[in-house]
Order: sequence, then structure tokens, then C-alpha cells
Amino acid sequence: MRYIDIDEVELELPDDWDDKVASAWAFVNRKVAEAEVATSAKGVQEGWDAQRLATELLNAAGTALKTAIASKSDVWGSLSEVLAKQSNGKCWYCETNELRSDNPIDHFRPKGRVAECSDHPGYWWLAFDWRNFRFACTYCNSRRVEVDTAGGKQDHFPVFTPPDWNKTPQDNNQERPKLLDPTDPDDCELLAFNINGLATPNCSDQTSDNYKKAIESIERFHLNHGPTKKARMAIRQKINQLVANTNDLLQQGVAAHSQQIKSNKKELMKLIRPSCTQTKFNTAARLYLNEFAALPWVKSMLDREPQ
Ligand SMILES: [Zn+2]
Repeated sequence: MRYIDIDEVELELPDDWDDKVASAWAFVNRKVAEAEVATSAKGVQEGWDAQRLATELLNAAGTALKTAIASKSDVWGSLSEVLAKQSNGKCWYCETNELRSDNPIDHFRPKGRVAECSDHPGYWWLAFDWRNFRFACTYCNSRRVEVDTAGGKQDHFPVFTPPDWNKTPQDNNQERPKLLDPTDPDDCELLAFNINGLATPNCSDQTSDNYKKAIESIERFHLNHGPTKKARMAIRQKINQLVANTNDLLQQGVAAHSQQIKSNKKELMKLIRPSCTQTKFNTAARLYLNEFAALPWVKSMLDREPQ
């Protein structure tokens, strides 16, 4: 995971974005109103009492709201390219470049329900809010089960309580999500990767919020999905080989500007550079290379390449 400056998204919004959102809300509100009218008519026809009518109206409005919002998925889907641009097409949660999804957008605060809170209606009012969108691969966003792991964020949004979740647009609790958020400048530091390619918390205090948040995120975003873990391990092996080979050459007296050494450095840079479209898991690669930061040529490479 690496930091994404969500403000950059605003600069790239299409000119008709506000109109598109306004039109989507007009559609949703119309559908809710239609459902309420139909329910009231049914209530009159069937002679419901006031309490039954109130319950039925609430249910009908809630269902119509969710259905209408879901039918407008093309609205947030239309921002795919804008969001992808912020990370050079890589998933904001795991940094893979294999998205495998037609609509790779996760609502960080789920729009339809919150799995951890049965009476939460979902953050429906954030359904078309670009600040709530995260560019996510299918493995991070959808339910996936592996031999020894399971994950996929889906409708999960655990928080540290108190305070409680915001359940209406009017609530103003300072929520503390128990999930790492790539748009939070502090969160990306909370993950580390071990020598086997596994994502782990970057702190050892198991009672700390940071530790719990990392553990929860590793599971929810399926960060230790088998192929992902293996790919990170392969990256670590490659980095070790390139560093060892470069060191050997330097010790043999091969000039630092030789073709062979430059080629090794180029490979290493590709692995750690987030903007390289051919490589993935660049943050893990950088952490692996950082293990050799005592070598001056590695240190200078890390200093040069942006995170
Ligand atoms: Zn992902």
C-alpha cells in the first residue's frame, strides 16, 4: 500500500461530474418517492394501521434507495481511469497491476450496509462521493477464499469504538476506521513485509490500535492471498540476486558505469518505482531493497527514487 493524495482526484474530475451526480441523486430520490407512493396506496387498499404503514414505508424507501443507487454504478465506474491514474493503474490497497474487474472501485465506507454493524444502513449518502472511492483489485474488494486465507473487503468497515459509526448524513462522529486507508498519510507506514513475502504489522505491540488495524486490513484486503505472497517473495529473491551480483562485480573491480552494473541498477529501479507499469508490489520491493541501505550505491538509489 502506498499513499494516494485524494485531492489530486478532484483536479482530474470530468467537467460534467457534478451534473452527473446531481442527475443520479434526482433519479434515486424519484425512485424512493415512487416506492413511498406505491406503498401508501397499498396501505390504503389493505387497511394498514399507522404503525404498519410507517414500517412498510421505511422498508420500501430503504429498498428503493439501495436498488436505485446500485443501478447507477456507471456513475462511479466512469471515474475508473481518473482513479487509476493516481497509482499508475495499480490497486491502491495491494499494488497489484492485475485488477481483474470491470468496475474496480471500492466504496471505502460501504454504501449499502456495514457488515460489523447490523443496524447500519450503509453510507448511502457517500455513494457518489469521489472522496469515498478507492481503486481496488478484485482480490482486495470482493470475497475470495484460498486454501488457507480468505478475504475481500466487500461491506466490511470495522471501527474502533467509541465513537460509534456515523449512521446518517447528519452524524458527525470522528470515526476511527480499523482498516488502513491509502489516502491517510500515516497508514501506509503501518505495513511491513517479511522474508516469506507475507504482509505483517509494522509494530510489535499487539495491544496497539496500529497493530490491530494492520492485522484487520491484511485479512480484509486479502493481502496474503497465496499468489500475492509468492510474487512478493519472488521480488525479494530477485532483489537479493541483483544486489549480490552487483556487489560481486564491484568487488572484482568492474567499473560502476559498466553495462552490467547499470543494467542491474535499472532492474532494481523498475522494481521499486511506483510509476513503473511493468512491476507491482513496489512498496514491498522498496522495503526489501532497504535491507541493503548500508551499501552506499543502494542508499543513493533509494534516496533518488520517489516512494
Ligand atoms: Zn488489491
